Amino acid sequence: MKQRISTILATALILIISFTACSQNEVLNIYTSRHYDSDLLLYDAFTEKTGIEIRTIEGGGDELIERMKNEGENSPADVLITVDAGRLWRAEQAGVFQPHGSEVLKAAVSAEYRNEEDLWVGLSKRVRGIVYRTDRVDADDLQGYRELAGEQWKGRICVRSSNNIYNQSLLAAMIERDGPERAEEWVNAFVGNFAQAPQGGDTDQIRFVAAGVCDVAIVNHYYLTRLRSSAQESDREVAANVAIWFPPAEFGGSHINVSGAGLAAHAPNRENAVRFLEFLVTPEAQRLYALANREYRILESDAPAGDGLHVRTYGANNPEAIRMMDRAGWK
Ligand code: FE
Repeated sequence: MKQRISTILATALILIISFTACSQNEVLNIYTSRHYDSDLLLYDAFTEKTGIEIRTIEGGGDELIERMKNEGENSPADVLITVDAGRLWRAEQAGVFQPHGSEVLKAAVSAEYRNEEDLWVGLSKRVRGIVYRTDRVDADDLQGYRELAGEQWKGRICVRSSNNIYNQSLLAAMIERDGPERAEEWVNAFVGNFAQAPQGGDTDQIRFVAAGVCDVAIVNHYYLTRLRSSAQESDREVAANVAIWFPPAEFGGSHINVSGAGLAAHAPNRENAVRFLEFLVTPEAQRLYALANREYRILESDAPAGDGLHVRTYGANNPEAIRMMDRAGWK
C-alpha cells in the first residue's frame, strides 16, 4: 500500500514537473530581416498577451532563406519575416514555408497581397514612387514608370543597381502587365536615359536628385518619409528640394510591394507561430509594424492606388526580369 502511494505521488510529481516545464517553454523563434527598435515593443506586446517568449535571429532576407534551407528539418525557425514579394517567392521556391491555414489571416489581408496557398502573407505596403526636383520638373510632366523611357528624360534619371530586388519586382510587374516584348523595349530605352551608372541605395538616389545629378529617381516612398522626419537638418534640406509622385490609375497605377511573413516549413512551435502571424494583422500590432518603417498598413487602403496586379507576379516573373536587365546593360 505504501509503495502504491509513493508510486502515485511520484507519477503526480513527474506530471507537475513536466507541466511546469512545458508552460515555461512556450517560445517562438523568429528569423527576421527587420531591425527596428519598435519591433521590440511589438514582441513585448505579444509576450504580454500570450506568455510566449520571442527569440529572434536577424539577417539579410536571402541569407535567412539560405540558412533555413541548410538547417532543413532541424531548423528552429518558426516564422520568417522579410521584405518584397519577389523575395517571399524565393523563400516559397526554396521550400522553407508551410501553409498557415489561418482564416484570420485570409480575412484580414486582401487576396492580391498574400500567397494563395497560404505560404506567406503581406504585412505592410510600400509604394515605388518617382522622386523629382521640384525646381526642374513640373509635376504635370510626370506620368507613369513606362513614360520614363521617353526621349524627354534622356540623361535625367537616377536609379539603383539591378541586383536590388525592388527594381526587379518593378520590371516583373511590367512584364505581367505589358507582356515581355513591350517590357524589354521599355527597359532598353529606360537604361538609355540614366544620368549615371547605377550606384547606392534608394536614399542615395534621392540625394542625387537633390544635388542635381539627375532630375528624377524611382524609390520606395518610405526613404523620402525618413529624410523628411530626420533629426539631421541636412537630410531635411535634401527632402525639401524634392517631391514624390505616385503614378495614378490613368498611367497604370503605382507599383505596390509588401513586406511579409510565412510559417516555417519545420516550425517546432507551429501554434505559437500562427498565433503570432494573426497578432501581426491586428490594428494594435499593425500600428507598430507598419509605422516602424513608415510603410502603409496592410489592413487599410490609405496607400496610393495600385496597379491591380497580384504581388505573386513579381516572383513568377523575377528570373525573366533579371535576364532582361542584364541584356539591357542595367548594371
Ligand atoms: Fe527598403
